Amino acid sequence: MRATTIHAPFDMRVADVPDPVVRNPGDAVVRVLRSCICGSDLWAYRGESARQAGQRIGHEFLGIVEETGAEVTGVGRGDLVVAPFTWSDGVCDYCREGLTTSCEHGGFWGSVGSDGGQGEAVRVPFADATLVALPAEAASDDRLLAALLTLSDVMGTGHHAALGAGARAGVTVAVVGDGAVGLCGVLAAKRLGADRIIALGRHEARTDIARRFGATDVVAERGDAAVEAVRELTRGQGAHAVVEAVGTEQSMRTAVSITRDGGAIGFVGVPHGSGTGLDLSVMFDRNIALRGGVAPVRTYIPELLPDVLDGTIDPSPVFDLTVGLEGVPDGYKAMDERTALKVMVAN
Ligand SMILES: [Zn+2]
Repeated sequence: MRATTIHAPFDMRVADVPDPVVRNPGDAVVRVLRSCICGSDLWAYRGESARQAGQRIGHEFLGIVEETGAEVTGVGRGDLVVAPFTWSDGVCDYCREGLTTSCEHGGFWGSVGSDGGQGEAVRVPFADATLVALPAEAASDDRLLAALLTLSDVMGTGHHAALGAGARAGVTVAVVGDGAVGLCGVLAAKRLGADRIIALGRHEARTDIARRFGATDVVAERGDAAVEAVRELTRGQGAHAVVEAVGTEQSMRTAVSITRDGGAIGFVGVPHGSGTGLDLSVMFDRNIALRGGVAPVRTYIPELLPDVLDGTIDPSPVFDLTVGLEGVPDGYKAMDERTALKVMVAN
């Protein structure tokens, strides 16, 4: 079959690889219908996180179950399913607490020895615990498929950030980052009932989506000017709940500066850079909490799925470019050059 492989920075290829097969009784093989390129994939693309030459990539996909091992009972051949960006066994202490990303037997698609989502098919370990079945009729609805695909990562990650930040009715939420995760953070904050949502971003196409998703204010300034603008909008206080969806020192510093005393930051941007941008003495003096981290999106899918199916939330506008599998290298280029917000791969 064909699948995306990474060989060196900026060297993505679509290559012939062995067909996945059921290896363990809990496995399933899923034929991929849709996958996508994540902002976090760009760190590998740019050589900022190391990959072995030929390693597979892609951790967001949905598709049709093609084959199952003897112990799989929850999903069967022909089922439409979505996979979260990690697999997990569903039974260990962490999984039972909902922290599926810390599963004792879990793993990440595209890690050495596993399949990646940006390919024709994927071997899924612990299929019963990992996969979530979707209504079969969604397979013929392109808009709905795109919305459902976000449950594999960005919508669940935005939700994790909004929860960590304490987004709820009666509070002001600010979102640092206008990528797909930041935009989903806006949508999640709206869904959780936030009264006011301030989106920080300079790109009009993206802030337009933020407004569609529920942002009441947009701050286009950066750095100190952004901090000032948010404070002006909040009687000098800052936001109760701040979503940090970038992961750089600068963005974390901005997040701390725009958080109201007693508020919290939900951070989901994969941290990059030598420092953290955190000044603990400032956070101490102002009682600012920091929560978040890698999102256990498997745990959130059952909660978010009904709202996606009935249209209460529609994250599909985060995709602004669709390519075929052979077009994946062009998709990376488009996202790296920021001519695309998020690229969907339609097999
Ligand atoms: Zn587990």
